[in-house]
Parts: sequence; structure tokens; C-alpha cells
Amino acid sequence: MATKRHSIALFGGTFDPIHFGHLRMALELRQALGFDEMRLLPSHQPGHRESPGVSPRQRCQMLVLALAGCDELQLDERELRRGGATYTVDTLEELRTELGPEVSISFCMGLDSLLSLHRWHRWQSLLALAHLVAVTRPGWSPPQRAKGGDHSPLLDVLERHRGSTADLHGEPCGRLVVREQTLLPISSTHIRQLLGNGQSPRYLLPAAVLQYIEDHQLYRKQNTAGDR
Ligand code: ATP
Repeated sequence: MATKRHSIALFGGTFDPIHFGHLRMALELRQALGFDEMRLLPSHQPGHRESPGVSPRQRCQMLVLALAGCDELQLDERELRRGGATYTVDTLEELRTELGPEVSISFCMGLDSLLSLHRWHRWQSLLALAHLVAVTRPGWSPPQRAKGGDHSPLLDVLERHRGSTADLHGEPCGRLVVREQTLLPISSTHIRQLLGNGQSPRYLLPAAVLQYIEDHQLYRKQNTAGDR
């Protein structure tokens, strides 16, 4: 039986803005998989992908407000501090150096993010640094091997690295766990659209975050032109 080692989970995203879908997913993952720490990791984005008028610092401020009083989730600002284009592999290398070879690191994401994994910078190095945990999101399913047909390079990775929850604690890195979890049907895109149309996104995100958005007049029509 594998020994339980210290385990740190990361949940990365643009959080533009943070909403209850993100927060529930992070909390439930921590509870269900028994991580010692769950850190939300806001990415610094290249300028062209940002919501006009909303800075990385403001996205981070909204996270601080969302996490206030919650001991179970932490904020890790390293990608914002580093600036420039965000590459997960750089973050994981930095963390591995900081934490040493024995700590278990799990990078968590929605399955939609996993499906584009093979387009991430140096994606083949990721599993040498951390575990990957993908949570199924409504409307997405894992790639299937088609008989005789082309298949996503992800399939090989899924087959070679597929692991269990116990592996996340028994090994420091190298396993891919796909986990089914009920996800709240909320997206930042929808919240930005509501705000852009002058409608309220109340009850989709923490009240303190909505207050911040209103105080700083974020995601208004003039701010969302050309939005994703
Ligand atoms: P956008 O609509 O701008 O694409 P988003 O709501 O998908 O934003 P991101 O910040 O892009 O949020 O996502 C960060 C991570 O959160 C991703 O791994 C994504 O799969 C996951 N995620 C997004 N929405 C939800 C949700 N409702 N429940 C659980 N996880 C979610």
C-alpha cells in the first residue's frame, strides 16, 4: 500500500471573473480527493485575450474577495507575478523546484481544458512534473479510440498514465485521473455577456465579487467589445 505524502493541488484559470462553478469545483475536488492544499492559480494572459478594461490585478482582486474567510482554498499568484504569456509547464517547474521531488502536485482542470492539452507549451513534460486531474463538464466527453481511424494524441497519454485517486497520494507526479463531478452550469463568458447587456449575474458569483465589478464598472458594454 502506497504511503500518503503531502499533496498540493492547483486549479488554474483566467477567472475572468471567478464564479461559483470554479469555487465549488475546487472545494469538492479538495474534499473528494483529500488534497492537503488546493490553490487557485490565476493565469497572466497575453494582452489580446484579456477582457478589455479588466486587468490581471483586478481578476486577482476578485479572487481575493471570493476566497475571503475560506480556509480550504488558497490563492497562488505566481503566474501574475511572473507576467507575460502563461505556460503551465513553467509554473510546475517552478513549484517542483520549490517543493522538492517528493511532494505530490496535481494540476486540476475541466475536461474541456484537457482536450486541448496537446496544444499546450511542452505538454509532454507536464506529467513528469505533476499529476493531471480532469473533471468532466456537461457537454464534453473523453476522446475515444476509433477503430482504424485517426485518434487524438491524448488517447495514448490517457492510456499510459491513467491512474486512481490513491496514485495521486502514492506518487509525486505522472498520473492522469479523469473524475466525474456535478458541475454548476456557469461560465465567465455568460457572466460577461449578462453584464455587457446590462443584466445582473447575481447568484452566479459571490456577492463581494459582483460588488467589486459594479464599483469598478467592469465588463460593461464598452469594455466587452471584441470579447471572447
Ligand atoms: P470562459 O467562459 O471565459 O472560458 P470559464 O468559466 O470556462 O471562462 P476559466 O477561467 O476559463 O472559466 O476556467 C478555469 C477552469 O475552470 C477550467 O479548467 C475550466 O474547465 C473550469 N471551469 C469553468 N467553468 C466551470 C464550472 N462551471 N464548473 C467547474 N469548472 C469550471
